[in-house]
Amino acid sequence: MLETVTKGFRAAKNRLAGKSEITPEMVDESLRDIRVSLLEADVAFDVVKKFVARVREKAVGEVVQTTITDKAGNKRRVSAGDHFVKICHDELEALMGPVDTSLQLKPRDQLSGIMMVGLQGSGKTTTTGKLASKLLKEGRKPLLVAADIYRPAAVDQLKVLGERLKVPVYFEPNVAPPELAKRGYAAAREQKCDVVLIDTAGRLAIDEALMTELESIKSNVRPDNILLVCDAMIGQDAVRTAAEFDRRLSLDGFILTKLDGDARGGAALSIKEVTGKPIKFLGMGESMDKLEEFRPDGLASRILGFGDIVGLMKDFEQVVDEKKAAEDAQKLLSGNFTMKDFVEQIRMVRRMGPLKDLLEKFPLFGEMTEQLNPDEQELTKIESMYDSMTEQERLRPQLINDSRVKRIARGSGRKPEEVRELLQKFGMMQQVMGTIGQNPGLLGRIPGFK
Ligand code: GDP
Repeated sequence: MLETVTKGFRAAKNRLAGKSEITPEMVDESLRDIRVSLLEADVAFDVVKKFVARVREKAVGEVVQTTITDKAGNKRRVSAGDHFVKICHDELEALMGPVDTSLQLKPRDQLSGIMMVGLQGSGKTTTTGKLASKLLKEGRKPLLVAADIYRPAAVDQLKVLGERLKVPVYFEPNVAPPELAKRGYAAAREQKCDVVLIDTAGRLAIDEALMTELESIKSNVRPDNILLVCDAMIGQDAVRTAAEFDRRLSLDGFILTKLDGDARGGAALSIKEVTGKPIKFLGMGESMDKLEEFRPDGLASRILGFGDIVGLMKDFEQVVDEKKAAEDAQKLLSGNFTMKDFVEQIRMVRRMGPLKDLLEKFPLFGEMTEQLNPDEQELTKIESMYDSMTEQERLRPQLINDSRVKRIARGSGRKPEEVRELLQKFGMMQQVMGTIGQNPGLLGRIPGFK
């Protein structure tokens, strides 16, 4: 996802790599790469203009420090390129945030409502199911109302989702959606449910009849949340749709779907700036667990090609305990990240199912996907070389000289060049970690990180 945007930032980063000073000309050249890729990614023109202007202002005015002191009190050298990337990161984060991803929910003894709106095909019904699944995990008792009565398949689809999630679905034929929503609330009270999710009708494009119907559902049940589901693949059109829905219904936020398949991702960057309302969740796939809380810092890091450390750690938390995940995050970012940690993380990743979904968040691969093109085979190779290292070498890879390289290569059945390549990639990863570790905004959000 987001390859188009990432491409421009990567080009800019490479242009500035190793430079100790940034001149206004260099800033302009780098911003040109970024500008082109943002426009290619279908980010709204005004948003691109503002973003570029903000970064230019900060980058040109910046007094570049060549050393900074990290959290452990060590002095580290930073390049002008690092500074530029940091400014881009902060501005990307500011563009998409701040975000409160919580839903407006009343205490459990009262009934709360979430009205889901969006164009046909945006992923509204699927996302209604995903939200119900999330609420279930939080100990809530949801009920789904099938108010998309014009598309019979939508009612059936919701019923199937309900059965799968073991969540009741309310539907009555020949009842108009505003009345259906009201009866849905009554049914939820009867069945002692505490959240109603209303799946409303969509159209291929916004029309007056649709809007009027949605307004009357809103005034009939006064839902606590109105969320617009938007397909990220349709770029700027998604942003225009969002603005119109917001004007008529006063939305609480957006859910951007199909981010897993979207190479452009322009909507993610424009929607907040254009409407003033936040993206709350991202749809990252078709299955019920593929809904992520939206974190602007995580997405900013992914766009810059760093990988999403916090998101990665959240996935880890499902496999390991929270304390361990927090410790891992701390290690990852402190620069004391050893080869041993690196391989442990990879082993954990392999236990976590489809690798592909995770790689974008994984810092090493996020940074070097193109070169590395990692697959299961690649990981097996890494593990075999690791297995042939001594404990001391795993902890201090800088000890690995030529004769040790040869021994490791022999032991693992790999070529010495492959061992050297692994060491080089690991070294680069440590560097990337250091850069991210200097971003306090990111650190503060890692559970348990001090
Ligand atoms: P609705 O017409 O808005 O209710 O849309 P649906 O919920 O029926 O979704 C339309 C299609 O998009 C279906 O094939 C879904 O499986 C798919 N879809 C929904 N959300 C996502 C997502 O986050 N990622 C991907 N890849 N597909 C999605």
